[in-house]
Amino acid sequence: MRILIAEDDPVSRRVLESMLKKWGYDVETTTDGLEAWKVLQGQDPPQLAILDWMMPGMDGLQVCREVRGRANHPYCYILLLTAKGQDSDVIAGLEAGADDYLTKPLRANELRARLYTGKRILAVQRELLAAQEALRIQAVRDPLTGLFNRRYMHESLEQELHRAARAQLPLGIIMVDLDHFKVFNDTAGHLAGDILLKDLGSFLQAHTRREDVVCRYGGEEFVVILPGAPPGVTERRAELIRSAVKEAELQRHSRSGVAVTLSAGVATFPEHGSSAMELLSAADRALYRAKADGRDCVRVGPVEAAAPRARGAQPELPSSWPLRPAR
Ligand code: GH3
Ligand code: MG
Ligand code: MG
Ligand code: MG
Repeated sequence: MRILIAEDDPVSRRVLESMLKKWGYDVETTTDGLEAWKVLQGQDPPQLAILDWMMPGMDGLQVCREVRGRANHPYCYILLLTAKGQDSDVIAGLEAGADDYLTKPLRANELRARLYTGKRILAVQRELLAAQEALRIQAVRDPLTGLFNRRYMHESLEQELHRAARAQLPLGIIMVDLDHFKVFNDTAGHLAGDILLKDLGSFLQAHTRREDVVCRYGGEEFVVILPGAPPGVTERRAELIRSAVKEAELQRHSRSGVAVTLSAGVATFPEHGSSAMELLSAADRALYRAKADGRDCVRVGPVEAAAPRARGAQPELPSSWPLRPAR
């Protein structure tokens, strides 16, 4: 573990440095507060800092305040070192954001014990951050495919539509549905069905651009949001996805000569609507037509007049999502 020492007194600094090294810590030393603050702002800074109170440049308290004043940084555990020992000084140090303090002259055993405390707190902090990150991922990802989930898709589509309306750019969505997946499940089993869905997720990701948002809409249905894509591009992309499935590794899932195929419905902004609800419903109706037309094909949403909107106006936010027509 790396520790930063900021101490202007050369004798104390050397004593501190040799103690820490003896205990197995990697040590970085600075001789004034400004330098210490620079190190703590750098890339991958030490997570634990021992700061002398009285230093040139910036004193230990100022460094503490700066460190605590910044957001979105990994936690830095700060031990303040001081010759002062009055209650009011201790309070000032803790109020500035120090986690702990030590009074000079240093006692080796006490320092060692307090470093253990610091390490323990940092470990708890790391665990918390990891748990928070795992929760964040769980909230927006579908556990089976790792793709974005339906909830994230709605949020993302709303956001991308606002952006598209403001910048007067097009946007396309593709709704993809596996053909006869129920039969596949019934013959190959649910587990094999799950693996096919997972592979289809990776396939869709591989056949879209980095800025496209690929989501599992539910069951064997997926939605791809293509920001900036005009109707022609969206339709061609859907057609490419449909035809590429035939060549893909996915065909190892085909059973008794029945190939894995999918149908897709395409809708674009502004042609098929200006709200997420309108676009999803247009793509859904197009998908329904693709199914009715024999599956394994792409259909484009009905060209219905979108409600006229004032230039620069924001798309309306839907109050509820449409119920799917039975397929
Ligand atoms: P169509 O060509 O008209 O789309 O027919 P389909 O059989 O694909 O559609 P249907 O809606 O009748 O059936 C969808 C099936 O998807 C039924 C359901 O059991 C299955 N399914 C939904 N979610 C999952 C899942 O997470 N894993 C597996 N293995 N199957 C799922
Ligand atoms: Mg000093
Ligand atoms: Mg379906
Ligand atoms: Mg289906």
